[in-house]
Amino acid sequence: MSGIYVHVPFCRTACHYCDFHFSTSLSRVESYVKALLKEIELRQESGEWDGLVFDTLYFGGGTPSVLSSDDLKLIVEGINRAFRGSSGFSSEFIESTIEVNPEDVNEESLRGWRAAGFNRLSIGVQSFHDSQLSWMNRKHSGKEAFRAVELASRAGFHRISLDLIYGLPESDGDWQKTVEMALSLPIDHISCYALTIEPKTVLGARIKSGVEIEMPDERLEKDYAIICDEMRKAGFDHYEVSNWAKGVKSRAVHNSSYWSGAPYLGLGAGAHGFRSNIRYSVISNNPLYISAIEAKKLPDTEETLSNKDRCNEVLMTGLRTAKGVDFKALEKTWGYNPAKLNPKEWKSRIEAGDIVQTKAGEETAFRIPENKWLIGDSIATDFFVT
Ligand code: SF4
Repeated sequence: MSGIYVHVPFCRTACHYCDFHFSTSLSRVESYVKALLKEIELRQESGEWDGLVFDTLYFGGGTPSVLSSDDLKLIVEGINRAFRGSSGFSSEFIESTIEVNPEDVNEESLRGWRAAGFNRLSIGVQSFHDSQLSWMNRKHSGKEAFRAVELASRAGFHRISLDLIYGLPESDGDWQKTVEMALSLPIDHISCYALTIEPKTVLGARIKSGVEIEMPDERLEKDYAIICDEMRKAGFDHYEVSNWAKGVKSRAVHNSSYWSGAPYLGLGAGAHGFRSNIRYSVISNNPLYISAIEAKKLPDTEETLSNKDRCNEVLMTGLRTAKGVDFKALEKTWGYNPAKLNPKEWKSRIEAGDIVQTKAGEETAFRIPENKWLIGDSIATDFFVT
């Protein structure tokens, strides 16, 4: 499965915790969309993606919902012209997701997103509590977030994912209530991440100056246990460390292909792409991106990954999924079996229950169990091929 990712680096406000690439100056939106259309042509003309079948499309950001429906439609049409149709690609994306913020969801925008071809929404709710939302500098209220999901469902979107953040300052069981409210809505997926403190953010500066304190690990563990528990009770399947789906068909196909190491085409300032062991990053600067594309140059930085790098990446991402990693396949594809390279550590991790077989009978496939996913990175790095 291969996918196309489009980065939309604009937001209406800067959330205090966020260090993604975005700009709150919307004056360049028009020239950015033009540049994006040109970049699509340049990547097609490069011939580097010939022969790949793209099954999924994902608009992320930033906040893709700041773009008008007409602009979104133009971009999707440009992608279809360049990478689908005439070259024998299948006629429809099996999953086409747009990240939207609650304040942008209304009947008109929902109609526009459907007309542009999106069949899945990822709504940036983060919390349903106004005190937490204003602490994060989010632009919407809890009520608006709730209404946005209901409106989207009524408009015919059957695949709706919510983004939530845990580890926020809270009073009176706010986190438990946020999860319960999310589960009362017509959704089929939740992505949930711990609040991380990035140094170059407002929150990072506040923590450094002592105005705020960082949440202790125990609090993050408690919140994570709450969501794992509630999602299980609600019948959702915990298929990756931060992702829950209501059945296999509701799993995010686009993101799942990242975890399996499939190629993906990245478009837009700050996007990443990957093909044939080459990973590229597009420049994270909107004016420089626009001027490079106007001069018909792709402003990429490339990195060639070795077999060891690929093996380690599959290990890092795969062990934190319910599907796990098939070590026999890993050895066949990349020439390394990390379990055989470090047998003593492997034995002790198995005995401690830090690594388990994915299913009885699948002797070569392993994963980290759910109750150890929060420390999954440190378990996986013990088996990195160096
Ligand atoms: S969290 Fe999302 S909406 Fe907030 S600044 Fe970051 S990219 Fe923009």
